[in-house]
Amino acid sequence: MNALNELLQDLIKLQSLEFSEVEDKETKAAMTELRAKIPSQILGHYDRLVAKGKKGITTVRDQVCTGCHMRVPIGGIMALKHGEDIQLCENCGRYLYLPPAAEAEPAKAAEPTAHPNPKPARKPRKSKKSLQTV
Ligand SMILES: [Zn+2]
Repeated sequence: MNALNELLQDLIKLQSLEFSEVEDKETKAAMTELRAKIPSQILGHYDRLVAKGKKGITTVRDQVCTGCHMRVPIGGIMALKHGEDIQLCENCGRYLYLPPAAEAEPAKAAEPTAHPNPKPARKPRKSKKSLQTV
């Protein structure tokens, strides 16, 4: 896992803790720990969104921002996929997170080769014989 993905996952975790409205010691400690890991610049933008009552980070599903349902440019998706850069939704300004599940989908194309050396199936020569005997 690359650093960028880890950072985004920390943001997702932090957000889920903050929106859970659980205020026990453990949750607060976990939140403090997460905040310490996330760069202040990123945290600052996230906090501004949360202060407006929005979610600071949202997931991308089918190339669509689940926060505002606007299409995310493919360039942004690719950058996220390769862990190159942090992406903000152009429409709602939230941080975008691409869940790993979306990457696993095209695995269907690679089918296991059950017969590595397939022999051409020979047709049984029943038809001729049966014709003669009739
Ligand atoms: Zn959006």
